[in-house]
Amino acid sequence: MINLETPRKFRAFINQAHQVAAEMLRPNSRRYDLAEHEYPVELDMLAALVDGLGASGNGAGAGASGVRRTASADEVVNGSNLSSVLSIMEMCWGDVGLLLSMPRQGLGNSAIASVASDEQLRRFAGVWAGMAITEPGCGSDSANIQTTARLDGDHYVLDGEKIFVTAGGRCDAVVVWATLNKSLGRAAIKSFVVPKDTPGLTVERLEHKLGIRASDTATIRFENCRVPAENLLGSASIDRGFAGVMQTFDNTRPLVAAMAVGCARASLELTRSLLAEAGVDVDYDRPVHLQPAAAASYLAMESDWEAAYLLTLQAAWMADNAAPNSLQASMAKAKAGRTANDITLRCVELAGTLGYSEHELLEKWARDSKILDIFEGTQQIQQLIVARRLLGKTSAELK
Ligand SMILES: Cc1cc2nc3c(=O)[nH]c(=O)nc-3n(C[C@H](O)[C@H](O)[C@H](O)COP(=O)(O)OP(=O)(O)OC[C@H]3O[C@@H](n4cnc5c(N)ncnc54)[C@H](O)[C@@H]3O)c2cc1C
Repeated sequence: MINLETPRKFRAFINQAHQVAAEMLRPNSRRYDLAEHEYPVELDMLAALVDGLGASGNGAGAGASGVRRTASADEVVNGSNLSSVLSIMEMCWGDVGLLLSMPRQGLGNSAIASVASDEQLRRFAGVWAGMAITEPGCGSDSANIQTTARLDGDHYVLDGEKIFVTAGGRCDAVVVWATLNKSLGRAAIKSFVVPKDTPGLTVERLEHKLGIRASDTATIRFENCRVPAENLLGSASIDRGFAGVMQTFDNTRPLVAAMAVGCARASLELTRSLLAEAGVDVDYDRPVHLQPAAAASYLAMESDWEAAYLLTLQAAWMADNAAPNSLQASMAKAKAGRTANDITLRCVELAGTLGYSEHELLEKWARDSKILDIFEGTQQIQQLIVARRLLGKTSAELK
């Protein structure tokens, strides 16, 4: 039976994540928002702490490292996916951009954890990996990848361009989606771990962005870039097809939903205290229609937030229990992304001039949250996936 209570064994770890968010991420939030592209040195110490927690078995990491599935559907555990989403919620209550800049906690690490063989897991342990799917001509339609991987002896040769790679400037390696044969369509798309110092890999530029400005976002070019054949993640077989690489999303979408839940909670909490200072108290014992409009609006946001929170836990819990969760992962991502956008912007509105100015972080959270409804599949794409799953349609039948 599903149980979404926070397991006792995670409570100390989650408290620790909250403390780090409150004492290290939040105080540095505005600084790295203004100093875009400056490396947040504070994160090195934090990453060492997270590594230590992982090594001692006390936590699954603050980001993407601990999302490998349990082997057996009989084994009901609250495992690494649940612990990851809960700690990410806390860290993103602190700062989303800084969480995305945490060494060794990249979305590429999640891809490795999801589909790597045991040998690859050992070989790539401790590597900080970004995720490179998007190209100038291909975003939502990830089956349309143009970057090629050609087998040449015991190496693959990669050619193409990837854009908007989160942590692409700072990470040690990128997990690159490339096609073995364009004429075979999606079945020939595979992912490759490419160390950043591989000849033929060039970081071309970093983007200037609306939000998550603490996180670097890179364009990376591959020209005659030779990668050992054993760096292809999972199976090289064309039959195995697209499902292998797509499986990554079932793990990463709940993580992005968790980022949205954490960021929205930050906005709600600050707004509630600002409303209280202005004499507007939120009363849970009185009907909403008898309360001030601002309090009623706050209560509506909070219930939306709760739904996003529970969907996120459900998607992670299913992954931990070896239950197929593509539908729930997309539901969680769609609900949490949209809700975080709505809540953070509405909080700016409710807080008036305080909400819009840099005196508070409300305006920043509204900017930061936007990406959470875009990357790892936009709102529209999540809705499309949910519709396909519910209606039993293939991607060819429902576009
Ligand atoms: C800050 C930032 C960080 C990012 N980090 C990464 C990263 O680490 N790795 C990576 O690979 N990518 C990354 N991305 C890219 C991101 O995943 C893409 O921007 C996203 O998938 C959308 O692709 P697109 O921008 O090409 O938009 P498009 O696919 O061109 O879509 C444009 C609009 O059309 C809508 N649309 C598209 N197809 C359909 C459809 N079939 N039905 C209905 N509506 C549709 C979309 O929802 C969207 O609103 C990042 C982007 C940003 C902004």
